[in-house]
Amino acid sequence: MTKPSTNAAAKANAKVRRAAGGSTAAGGGAKAKGVPKVGFVSLGCPKALVDSERIITKLRSEGYEIAANYDGADVVVVNTCGFLDSAKQESLDAIGEAMAGNGRVIVTGCFGVEEGRIREAHPGVLAVTGPHQYEQVVDAVHDAVPPLHDPYVDLVPPEGLHLTPRHYAYLKISEGCNNRCSFCIIPALRGDLVSRPANHVMTEAEKLVKAGVKELLVISQDTSAYGLDIKYAESPWKGVPLKARFLDLSRALGDLGAWVRMHYVYPYPHVDDVIPLMAEGKILPYLDIPFQHASARVLKAMRRPASQEKTAERIRRWRDVCPDLAIRSTFIVGFPGETEDDFNQLLDWLGDARINRAGCFKYEAVEGAVANGLEGAVPEEVKEERWHRFMARQKEISASLLAEKVGRVIDVLIDEVDEDGALGRSKWDAPEIDGSVFLNGETGVMPGDIVQAKVIEADDYDLWAERCS
Ligand code: SF4
Repeated sequence: MTKPSTNAAAKANAKVRRAAGGSTAAGGGAKAKGVPKVGFVSLGCPKALVDSERIITKLRSEGYEIAANYDGADVVVVNTCGFLDSAKQESLDAIGEAMAGNGRVIVTGCFGVEEGRIREAHPGVLAVTGPHQYEQVVDAVHDAVPPLHDPYVDLVPPEGLHLTPRHYAYLKISEGCNNRCSFCIIPALRGDLVSRPANHVMTEAEKLVKAGVKELLVISQDTSAYGLDIKYAESPWKGVPLKARFLDLSRALGDLGAWVRMHYVYPYPHVDDVIPLMAEGKILPYLDIPFQHASARVLKAMRRPASQEKTAERIRRWRDVCPDLAIRSTFIVGFPGETEDDFNQLLDWLGDARINRAGCFKYEAVEGAVANGLEGAVPEEVKEERWHRFMARQKEISASLLAEKVGRVIDVLIDEVDEDGALGRSKWDAPEIDGSVFLNGETGVMPGDIVQAKVIEADDYDLWAERCS
């Protein structure tokens, strides 16, 4: 067991390493004008010292310099010790000293778990993180003083590398899933829900928007469960705490000024709270909710919530708040035990809920899925026949909903342009999976432009429009 630091040791460390960069960590070198500088105060035991070294190494690799004194620092990180009461007091004193000497202070380390006590003593600290939270500390530094991007040195642009066109990007907010749907092996493959801190998500989103992204596609396995695993923890964003919660993140993303589209939303009750943001135009009036079925019996066997009748009612209420709301969903036909009656319930529910866009899959026995052990396998030809009936019903619904758009002036995000015209999408269409808006003959636009256009025609899945002058 490593001997913990004493108050005296903490003090000694503080003395030696306060604003340590000049002597030990910065590696010397002239300070170029404009290069961001971080002061570093490291207290506590060797483990804390190693944490400090890792943070400093990361910051140096990003081009930060380590300031030799408070005056020369753009921000000061205080790595605290919390082992003994005396060490905690020493940490509070060190934070106070950094606040007085610089004023822009990020606290980390063992004492960081007592955020309330730190903020009570020093309400002006920018961020507080706990031990071993290297990423969070580095993110807090990024928030306080962004790293310089050097195109001659950095191989990767600040927004990262993306395989999507430049004007839209996927934004993953969590990994894994706490649900246990019987047809799905994702939790076995990827584990339970792990949410990213809200300020990590926002930092990435902001970089994307600054790099020219016009549409952020929020994804995860279970978007509306975001933050559950980290108890909706707050993290600093633009100087104020931001909760890792679906509603708070939606609002913050909406403030970035890009289109924000929500995918893989499970219809938990709190999804209702996000609908007004859609009505206000903060985020797109679009929800991708994989309902999977409508029969209570099948949903139970799938281990999904079984109150579809109430779900259709909820969708009606959502549309009362936001009449423009488009719902995309996916469904499975031919699930083990699905009867003709179950399937007909699904068709009726589709018409009742007026689902705008729907994908349909024939049930496949994925290796390892619990559902494979269920009785009542549906023959392939029955699955096929149900799939065709589903798609025909959905086509009618889609066509009737799109016909209602004719005559309206809508925003169109341009995806492609050639000599015949432009192809784009409305707020109701996600890339790759939904419909398109054709602007025939419109060649004076570029991918990524958002233009206003009047809808002149609709078919089963797509719209045709003319740009408004
Ligand atoms: S289907 Fe979706 S919600 Fe269900 S377990 Fe798989 S990832 Fe989770």
